[in-house]
Amino acid sequence: MPNHRNLKNIATVVLAVCLLIAMTVMAYWWAKRRSLDDMHRVLAPRAEFYAATIGGMLSKYEFLPLAVAQSAEVADLLEHTDAGKVSRINDYLKDINTRVGAFAVYILNTQGLVLASSNWQEPTSYVGQNYAFRPYFQQAVQGGIGHFYGIGVSTGEAGLFISQPLRRGGRIIGVVAAKVSLDWIERSWSAPAVVDQIWVTDANGVVILSSIPGLKFTTLAPLSALQRNAILVQRQFFREPLPVVDHPVREEFADGAKVLSLTDPASNRAAPSSKGEFLAVGHSLAPLEWRITVLSDLAPVRAVARNAALAAFLVWAVILLSFLYARQRSRRIHERLAAQEALKQAYGELEIKVEQRTSDLQDTNQRLQAEVVERERAEQTLRYAQVELVQSGKLAAIGQMAAGITHELNQPLAALQTFSDNARAFIVRGRNAEALENLSIISDLVKRLGYITSQLKAFARRRDDSKRPIHVQRAFEQAMLLLHARIDAEQVQLNVVWPEQPLLVLCSEIGLEQVFANLLHNAVDAMAASEVRRIEVRAVQHTDDLEIHISDTGPGISAALIEKIFDPFFTTRDQGLGLGLSISAGIIRAAGGSLAVRNRTAQDGGGAVFIIRLMYAAAGEAGNRET
Ligand code: ADP
Repeated sequence: MPNHRNLKNIATVVLAVCLLIAMTVMAYWWAKRRSLDDMHRVLAPRAEFYAATIGGMLSKYEFLPLAVAQSAEVADLLEHTDAGKVSRINDYLKDINTRVGAFAVYILNTQGLVLASSNWQEPTSYVGQNYAFRPYFQQAVQGGIGHFYGIGVSTGEAGLFISQPLRRGGRIIGVVAAKVSLDWIERSWSAPAVVDQIWVTDANGVVILSSIPGLKFTTLAPLSALQRNAILVQRQFFREPLPVVDHPVREEFADGAKVLSLTDPASNRAAPSSKGEFLAVGHSLAPLEWRITVLSDLAPVRAVARNAALAAFLVWAVILLSFLYARQRSRRIHERLAAQEALKQAYGELEIKVEQRTSDLQDTNQRLQAEVVERERAEQTLRYAQVELVQSGKLAAIGQMAAGITHELNQPLAALQTFSDNARAFIVRGRNAEALENLSIISDLVKRLGYITSQLKAFARRRDDSKRPIHVQRAFEQAMLLLHARIDAEQVQLNVVWPEQPLLVLCSEIGLEQVFANLLHNAVDAMAASEVRRIEVRAVQHTDDLEIHISDTGPGISAALIEKIFDPFFTTRDQGLGLGLSISAGIIRAAGGSLAVRNRTAQDGGGAVFIIRLMYAAAGEAGNRET
């Protein structure tokens, strides 16, 4: 997409540049055309004016030979030539020539021989010369008016020859000729007011007058052999080689005007910027077969065209740049609107998404809340279950305790029975001393029975406080009250190693007693099939806490089960509930301690070792137990 747009942009810019170039070129050509047309319009009448001026001046000389031909003395000279007449006519011709301002006036007989001439006194005098080869003589001797431009054979000076026949009695007896120098024309062209270049060509296309010096006596087109021959015979241009001037024509107008370029105009008046391109307008110079051509340098035309092109370039550049700018701007606005639209859309979509997410979150939240409620309910249920478990654990302990108490009570009761029977027999026999001794034993036994029952009462009344300072050894002894009967019965060796000082820890007293009872019961259970039955109890004291190790010589706990034995209701025994360890662990955890198990190595005696870890209590806090 961006690539496509880039290509489009480049194409637009290229198109704009092409248009700019086209417009500039068109403006150049249009302005050049117009300027050229204007120049042409102005130059055509100017050429006509130049032609009229030159024609007017030349016509003045037309009458000179005609006037001389009217002279009776001149006719007389032609009919009867003698030295006196010649001298008079020479003076006459000199006089008239001076007055008219021609180059020379002279009289020729019908053979072309000059009889008298205005320049008879000069070294280049025509007198005695024969000009029968000159066309002006031939034209006049045949009755016409002769016109001829050429370089003088005697003087070497170029000029226009005009001739008239001299008739007497209807017969041509001679010719009057005048030679007019045309230098004044060229001189007039070099005046500063004359801005044009001008040349005059004769009937053969030879440039005979030119404001451009290098062009004089050149031809505009190659001469035919016939023309060259005629020029040679008439000795028209003496030894001038008459080279052809290269002047390629660029354009030609309907009236014959041309745009041409002169490769080397060698003009001293051409504009410096001139490329040698000129507009050339021609006009005939009647009655001669000449043609005057006025050339105007095209530099101003080119300058006008250049200015127009520059103006067009600037105007079109401004237009195109404005167009490109407007286009770019509108595209920007369009893009911005599109972006805004996209943003709006995205925003809309986002809002929808946010709404969806919010509603999802609300759903989740509601679900979570419901779950929290559910959890709370479950927790409540669990708590109840735990309480119930503890309760059932207690019941189990009470059951065990009841068995223990029965055992405890049975022995003193049996002894009581025996001692009371004995006391009665001693009294009957009058052996009072023995009777008294028996009675004191009976009293001790009753005391012991009272102690046992008081223990039961105490057990029932004791506060279940999970974290109070208690005396470890005392708790152990309390547990043993319920247990030693079984230990004895099962022939289990009990090794208890306590330090001398009391060990004070933070725990529930009943709880710890229960834990001891559970662990000792489990140990006795585990050693049912063992040969060596030994329970070891010892305290390992650390700085912050106390470890109580209770080990047995049972089979230990297999690796597969060791993770599970603290789970509630996990048991491997037929009559087991699977609650002993889970309750014990719960009690120790509640006191901020931990209950762990590991198997002992065979060297250590094998079996399992349970480790109760409890925090020390501050000394002196123990012993505040309720009774
Ligand atoms: P119960 O005694 O009712 O089985 P407990 O939670 O006290 O429940 O014990 C769980 C189980 O842990 C027992 O069934 C027994 O497999 C195992 N166990 C407990 N103490 C020991 C021990 N000292 N040696 C070997 N196994 C034991």
